[in-house]
Amino acid sequence: MIIECPAKINLSLDVVGKREDGYHLLEMIMQTVSLYDKVKITKDSETRVICNNINVPSDRSNIAVRAVELMKQRYEIQDNFKIEIEKNIPVAAGLAGGSTNGAAVIKAINEMYSLKLSKDEMKEIALKLGADVPFFFEGGTCLAEGIGEKLTKLNDISCYIVLAKPPINVSTKYVYQNLKLDEISIHPDTKRIIDYIKYNDIKMLAASMVNVLENVTIKEYPIIYEIKNIMMEFGALGSLMSGSGPTVFGIFEEKADAIKCYNRLRDYIKEVFVVNTVDRGV
Ligand code: ATP
Repeated sequence: MIIECPAKINLSLDVVGKREDGYHLLEMIMQTVSLYDKVKITKDSETRVICNNINVPSDRSNIAVRAVELMKQRYEIQDNFKIEIEKNIPVAAGLAGGSTNGAAVIKAINEMYSLKLSKDEMKEIALKLGADVPFFFEGGTCLAEGIGEKLTKLNDISCYIVLAKPPINVSTKYVYQNLKLDEISIHPDTKRIIDYIKYNDIKMLAASMVNVLENVTIKEYPIIYEIKNIMMEFGALGSLMSGSGPTVFGIFEEKADAIKCYNRLRDYIKEVFVVNTVDRGV
């Protein structure tokens, strides 16, 4: 079975508190985009991962392997699986590449074994793998609250997006550890952004995007700020870092403008893509 699984970006990201167990409470607008990994899963004598990207772990630290283990245990499946991942989504980029692979494995095993799991059941299993995983059973445009698990589907929006992943590694843990809640100067107005989405007002949406993690990452890596500036110079309606970074995206109404921006960024960054919003998950 082959599943195409999309990347996500955060159209906004707010941290609104901290749970007693240390998890941050979030308010995020999530969006799937047309950049896909392909996950092929077949029965095999042992569970293993084969991936075209050497930065993706092949042991049980791979989220796809953990998804297999969860499904095997929960549904008393004896078989093992070969998981072939065609990785097109940049790794450790703030695009949730691992999470979308985990969701794909849950979906594939549900279908291979005719488990007939509901979307809510799959989302519940997904949350055990990570806070971003349940979103991929909705896809499109969503509000995510809590630690990311409380999902509300919003209107699907339609625009072009340029993604640029600078060649740096940002640890999600580092970013959250260095975020000082009382020092956040600008929070997104999430309610207003939801209204812009409702009325498909891409211009106002793009102009209102805020990610409170951006300043933590930019302090360490000013290249993120430089990419944002280039995107705005090339006509982006708005530009933001996705998740904890380092990927930066720009929103465009016209494909021709997105391509011009892509061509400029390709001069000095390898991982650049022109994509569009999609209204699907895994
Ligand atoms: P997060 O914000 O959850 O850290 P991300 O979108 O920034 O995610 P991912 O591409 O999901 O980044 O990778 C984060 C780390 O997870 C990688 O450094 C990698 O070692 C590990 N990982 C585990 N499984 C996978 C997978 N299937 N694909 C990519 N990375 C994976």
